[in-house]
Amino acid sequence: MRALLAGARRKQSSLIAFTRELVRAESPSDNKAAVDACLALAVTRARLLGARVKIHRQPDFGNLLELRFGPRKPAMPGQKPLLLLGHLDTVWPLGTLKSMPCRISTGRLWGPGTLDMKAGVAMAFTALELLTEARLLQREIVLLLNSDEEIGSPVSRPITEKLAKSCSAVYVLEPAQGLAYKTSRKGIGNWRIQVEGVAAHAGVDFERGANAILELSRVIEKVSDWTDLERGLTVSVGVAGGGTKSNVIPAQAWAEVEARIVRRADGARIARKFAGLKSLKLSDPRCTLTVTGGFNRPPMERRPGTVRLLRKAQVFARDLGFALDEAATGGGSDGNFTAALGIPTLDGMGAVGEGAHARHESVLLEHLAPRTALLAAMLMD
Ligand SMILES: [Zn+2]
Repeated sequence: MRALLAGARRKQSSLIAFTRELVRAESPSDNKAAVDACLALAVTRARLLGARVKIHRQPDFGNLLELRFGPRKPAMPGQKPLLLLGHLDTVWPLGTLKSMPCRISTGRLWGPGTLDMKAGVAMAFTALELLTEARLLQREIVLLLNSDEEIGSPVSRPITEKLAKSCSAVYVLEPAQGLAYKTSRKGIGNWRIQVEGVAAHAGVDFERGANAILELSRVIEKVSDWTDLERGLTVSVGVAGGGTKSNVIPAQAWAEVEARIVRRADGARIARKFAGLKSLKLSDPRCTLTVTGGFNRPPMERRPGTVRLLRKAQVFARDLGFALDEAATGGGSDGNFTAALGIPTLDGMGAVGEGAHARHESVLLEHLAPRTALLAAMLMD
């Protein structure tokens, strides 16, 4: 462990340099050319490390990168590879660097996509480099970097799931939660509720109108009541709109609703409730209601396989000189998909920092080497 830590410290400046290179290649999920340019940097780096490179080309999104390191044949018969999951897209539009430059100050690396998750990707490359140089890679490691995580992984999901099924465990390079690894994540669903009413002059013809906003507000109260904090179940109306002018009874109103669940069983139940809204008796029978949507990410439940991985990581962390905590989070990642398949998944194995998706996004430099050494130990085992 000490040798791994010393190695990670030796490589810290090149780790930071590679992170900065990735951050300077701005890569918003909706810009294929930009994401592909960022991905090209990872391909170059992977080739230097002798990886087997496969590019999953995508017509409408950035390409996906599947990299394989270490021996093709397992040292022990039946041993499956490990899967490392990361993404190169960010939530930041092109040009963000002008107002949020990539820089080092006060012990941090600042900039769009540093924490979420370009530093995590660079940590994975560094860990693999350490193990390759020390000839410690005993098994095949698959590193999958996708380009669409920040928009729900529409094209990468099937590829992630297929690869995960061929692997014994999944390590997700998302940022740590504080200092902790993540062992559970909420599942996420999105719905749109639309109400059609009848427009009328609010002064002349009030009674001929059917107020879609009023009707929607009742539905909003109803779905919000499904929140059950003790179960970790939340239903939140995040966006709503409707109407045209204050003197017109609104003929239309809509709301976008998000539900988050801790328990898998709540998924089907909540989906049924949303579907059931269609037959809801409305206060004004002249109004009609349509509901579309569903769950995008199943919850990552805290399962024994994941806990075993965590325990192992905690032992390594102690040897490295720090205590490793575990955390649950309401946010989703690609780990939700792999955990739902029953494959032990440990998340939050990337950088430590603050401000993902926020102006103060930054990575704490002091944790880079110890966390990279820990990642390397987990890949070795
Ligand atoms: Zn992320």
